[in-house]
Amino acid sequence: MTTWTSNIPAHHEYSTIQLLRVPAATKLLGITINRTLEGCITHWDGRRTSACPGDECPIHRAGHAGRWHAYVPIWGQTSGKIAVIQLTALAAGALQEEAQRWGTLRGLLIQISRVKPRDNARIVIEARKLPTEPLDLPQPIDVQRFMDAIWNEQSHSRNANGQTRKEPHQCE
Ligand SMILES: [Zn+2]
Repeated sequence: MTTWTSNIPAHHEYSTIQLLRVPAATKLLGITINRTLEGCITHWDGRRTSACPGDECPIHRAGHAGRWHAYVPIWGQTSGKIAVIQLTALAAGALQEEAQRWGTLRGLLIQISRVKPRDNARIVIEARKLPTEPLDLPQPIDVQRFMDAIWNEQSHSRNANGQTRKEPHQCE
């Protein structure tokens, strides 16, 4: 029997939101949406990124530490679009300091770029608190749910085709 539901599957719920790495040569500008910073350890296996499951992680037991990344949703006031930006721990640390200074991460106007026009060059963040929060600033998004949907979709697309499509957002 068919089960009807009004719950949109997680991987479609956020289908208009893009996950972005900080580009080599252009700046990202936006206003932070979430109140807190969230991240996790990820593994890149040469084909795709996945979240470290913790104690029972086979990749860890094979001796690979993985890398911690933060995933920060920002909103483009002009475009009206939300993007989730993948940040290194170092870059996230700078943002966390700003968040602690203001008591929240939400409502910071941030500009993110790289020190040199190279894919893995260090990320620089400039942030300033907006005097008033824009009325149309979107509600915080569930970053874990968004990332789980992306990672699940990547593993499903690999299983379905017998191979992975090229990962657009691979970790450094
Ligand atoms: Zn692991």
